Amino acid sequence: MSALPDAATEARAKELRQLLNQAAHAYYVLDAPQMEDAVYDRLYRELLELEQNDPQLIRSDSPTQRVGGPPAAGFSSVEHRITLLSLDNAFNAEELQAWDERLGRQLEQSEGQRREFVCELKIDGNALALSYEHGVLVRAATRGDGSRGEDITANVRTIQAVPLRLQLEQPPAWVEVRGEAFIPDDTFAAINADRQQRGEALFANPRNACAGTLRQLDPKVVAARRLDFFAYTLHLPAEARGPSSQWQALEWLEAAGFRVNPHRERTSGAAGVIAFYQRWDEERHQLPYATDGVVVKLDALEQQQLAGFTQKAPRWAIALKYAAEEAPSRLLRLVAQVGRTGKVTPVAEFEPVALAGTSVSRATLHNADRLVELDLHGGDTIVVRKAGEIIPEVVRVLSELRPAGAERLELPSHCPECGSLLVREAGEAATCCVNSSCPAILRGALRHWVGRDAMDVDGLGGKLIEQLVDRGLVGSIADLYRLDAALLASLERMGEQSATNLINALQASRQRPWHRLLYALGIHHIGSVNAKTLAAAFPSWSALQAADEESLNDLYGIGPEISQSLQQWCSTTANQALMSQLAELELPLAASSDSTGGGPGPLTGKTLVLTGTLPNLSRTEAQGLIEAAGGKMTGSVSKKTSYLVAGSEAGSKLEKANKLGITVIDEAGLQQLLQP
Ligand code: NAD
Repeated sequence: MSALPDAATEARAKELRQLLNQAAHAYYVLDAPQMEDAVYDRLYRELLELEQNDPQLIRSDSPTQRVGGPPAAGFSSVEHRITLLSLDNAFNAEELQAWDERLGRQLEQSEGQRREFVCELKIDGNALALSYEHGVLVRAATRGDGSRGEDITANVRTIQAVPLRLQLEQPPAWVEVRGEAFIPDDTFAAINADRQQRGEALFANPRNACAGTLRQLDPKVVAARRLDFFAYTLHLPAEARGPSSQWQALEWLEAAGFRVNPHRERTSGAAGVIAFYQRWDEERHQLPYATDGVVVKLDALEQQQLAGFTQKAPRWAIALKYAAEEAPSRLLRLVAQVGRTGKVTPVAEFEPVALAGTSVSRATLHNADRLVELDLHGGDTIVVRKAGEIIPEVVRVLSELRPAGAERLELPSHCPECGSLLVREAGEAATCCVNSSCPAILRGALRHWVGRDAMDVDGLGGKLIEQLVDRGLVGSIADLYRLDAALLASLERMGEQSATNLINALQASRQRPWHRLLYALGIHHIGSVNAKTLAAAFPSWSALQAADEESLNDLYGIGPEISQSLQQWCSTTANQALMSQLAELELPLAASSDSTGGGPGPLTGKTLVLTGTLPNLSRTEAQGLIEAAGGKMTGSVSKKTSYLVAGSEAGSKLEKANKLGITVIDEAGLQQLLQP
């Protein structure tokens, strides 16, 4: 006898059984899902794997032991002539390939022999079993638990796409048709809008709306909701000489008057299936109804028979599902990450999960409030979300799966990097480390300084910055300009050549214009556009430092938040020390004297003329901005003028520009040109 499963595994299996059964009840019986399908699927997979590794864990009440849910009360229950099974799932190309190879072995085919498949879209609706006798619809039932479903004939009769009589001259004694009832997206939106107006609970998705509608006791409500139907399975009596393949069955259904989804393909081998699946991953978004995968079926019915069934699903078909955007995972630890501005972000690290096509193991929790809201505990099972390009986030916690005695997680009181007390100002969401020499803040500041839009220092990446800070070789931005090649060459993964290149890159960064340096300082709220405005109006650090709040606020795009942030930065001793060191190191703390344009920027090589009064910018400010963007400003319009910037009361210059066909722009047009 094999050893008993350990207590932890047994407990986990029990937990999963309970949670999944509860979720299935909410989903199948109440039509009000408690969790996302993808989350349900993953937890189901976890339970299935535990049971497959150790069959002693299987209990009769496990959701893996049954199909669907029990029939709901309110309708009479009917026994299906042929059991309605579920489908096994594959979640990626590898799993599909493994299934295909398994089929090959079951069919005793030689390796390399390709099987013929039919690919159909997996419509995200509800399965129906329709019975016809002598061509007439006599019964329609839900899938229920696979053997018994609810008799919803009166409701299904309202679906226009379901023929009440088959269009066949000599219909067989009986026909069983399976297919998917569904609600198209626009109908779904209208149903929910209507429910919202009446103050009724909204349906979570079209499929739940469809399930809820099919179980309406009043067929008039069903008729009003305009359900649709695609047929996909045909069963005929053995004596009726019917189709010999799934492809032909679909054609038969079409000829008998059913709506069959037109987006289907007969392919040879797994590669063809995968190509279909990938193509529809894009194209499905254009469809007016929801699909959540592709259903792949062996085409030849003879082969289907050979492959047979498991207790739950046919072996000859599989649902190849699309990458989920949400999934459950187990929290490993909570990390407090200190950013460049000192802001501390709680970050969850969890067991890696595949999401939207990538593996994800970290997700931000934004701030301390969010942490409280989530009520995160050690070892929690969390739901993680990543849609497309979006940064992964923790959506919620499945508290039902919380380990006994788990502790509530909070942000630390002290900075994990420098140990100083963290501060959260009243009314602020962010918790911050305010120690300006905190290594985390320094690393962030250095990364920002060397960035492409800032001082653009090639060859100084995150890893190297970490080494420099951790070894105490760099304690401030100024220290970067004190590094020598020999020292750099002695660092990990640095050769003599890369050390020399880095020194040259640092040297080259001294040529960056004043506005880039101002931006590179990473002052809160001063992005590259504001830095240009400020640098144009105040052509040196000393001028900027001396500027009063009023003259700062007068500038286009600069408001009190920015001017206060700037003044606060300037009044900090550590920052003053940094600026004097940068001055000593001869970094460009002022616009160069020959700043008559020509430097790199969005206006490089352009000549502009200004006329009239602009609504926000003074003449000097406009000139500063143009020059900071690499452009040149001249006093008179000629054929060489690229743009005339015209304000109110523009006079002869405007006339001349029009005559010469020069592009005339206003202040907004100029601001647009200034964008990098
Ligand atoms: P399934 O949805 O994974 O696949 C089987 C179903 O696909 C069939 O019954 C049929 O209705 C449908 N289908 C669509 N197009 C088809 C086609 N062309 N050919 C054949 N079948 C087609 O499996 P299931 O057993 O119906 O239900 C399990 C699903 O229910 C899972 O996706 C699960 O996430 C969801 N569920 C969710 C919760 C929750 O709490 N969110 C709870 C229980 C179940």
